[in-house]
Amino acid sequence: MHLMNTKHVTVTLLSALLLGQRYEKPSVVKGRTDVITVTPWLAPVIWEGTFNPALLDSIYKPQNVSIAATVFSVGKYTKFLKDFLETAEQHFFVGFNVRMYVFTDRPEEVPQVKMAAGRELIVRLVPSSNRWQEISARRMEIIQKLIEEELVDQIDYIFCLDVDSLFHARWGTESLGELVAVIHPGYFKSERRGLDYERRPASRACMAADEGDFYYCGGAFGGAVKDVHLLAKTCRENFEADAKENIEAIWQEESHLNRYMWLNKPSKLLSPEYLWQDMVPREPEIRVVRFSGIIKNYQDIRPNFSE
Ligand code: UDP
Repeated sequence: MHLMNTKHVTVTLLSALLLGQRYEKPSVVKGRTDVITVTPWLAPVIWEGTFNPALLDSIYKPQNVSIAATVFSVGKYTKFLKDFLETAEQHFFVGFNVRMYVFTDRPEEVPQVKMAAGRELIVRLVPSSNRWQEISARRMEIIQKLIEEELVDQIDYIFCLDVDSLFHARWGTESLGELVAVIHPGYFKSERRGLDYERRPASRACMAADEGDFYYCGGAFGGAVKDVHLLAKTCRENFEADAKENIEAIWQEESHLNRYMWLNKPSKLLSPEYLWQDMVPREPEIRVVRFSGIIKNYQDIRPNFSE
C-alpha cells in the first residue's frame, strides 16, 4: 500500500534526492506551450514532455504501489483480448504490481498470456447479453462490486479500460492520481456546444449548454480505488434510476461519467495520448500515442448492431 506513512515518505524523498543528482534540472520557463498542462482547478494534464518517467518511477517504486485494471470482453469481443493483454505486458506499468481482471462470458477463449513477475491475470465470469448498451452499462456495477469485495484494502489504484484497444507506448506512474480522466480524442479541441454530452433534462446525465470542462472517455478512467468506487456507484445508481424512467443516456455510462466528472473534478487528466482512436487523424499536439482504440467492424462484433 502506498499510504503516506513516515517511512514511505523518507524512502521516497531519499530516492528522489538520489535521482536528483542524475537528471536535468527542470526549467521554470521552458515546457510545453502548445497545450495546457494544468486545468483551471489546478489538476495536472499529462502529455509527453511534461514528466520524467524514471524520476516518477523512482518515487513510486519504494511505495510498492499496486494497480488493478479491469477489461470487459463479452461475446465476440474476446478476439481483442490477446493483443490487448500482450501489449499491456509491454507498456502498462512495467515493473510494477498489476492485477489484470478480465470479465467475460467466454472464459475458454481467454488467451494464455505470459505475465511478468508481480503481475497476475484474473478471469471472472459475467453473463452474456443481447444488447451492447447493457454490456457497456453493467460495467459500473461490476467495478463497484469488485472494489467492495476484493480491492479495497488490497490495491491502491485501478484503471478501467476498453478491450478493443492496444498499448503502443508507456502508460505508467505518471497517470496515478485520486480521480483520473482521459480527455477524449474526438473532442479535445471542441467548444462546449460541440461536446456530445447527454442533453435531455430527463436524464441524470444531462449537461446544460453552459456546463462542461472537457469531454472524457468512457473507455479509460481510473484513480484510487476509493474514488473509483464512488464514481462507479454513483454512475450505476444514476443509470438505473434513468432506466426506471425509460431513459438511456446517449452514450450510456460515458454520459454519466462525464456528468460525474463535471461535479467531481478529476485530480489528474490524461491527454488523448492515453486513448487515441485509430480512425481519428493524428493531431500535431499528439507526440506519442500510448493507447488507442482500434478500427472495428461493429456489424461483425455487436450482438444488436442496428440499435
Ligand atoms: N463490450 C464487450 N462486448 C460487447 C460490447 C462491448 O465486451 O458486445 C465491452 C468491451 O470492453 C468494449 C467496451 O465494452 O471495449 C465498449 O464497447 P464498444 O467498444 O462497442 O463501444 P465504443 O467505444 O465503440 O462506442
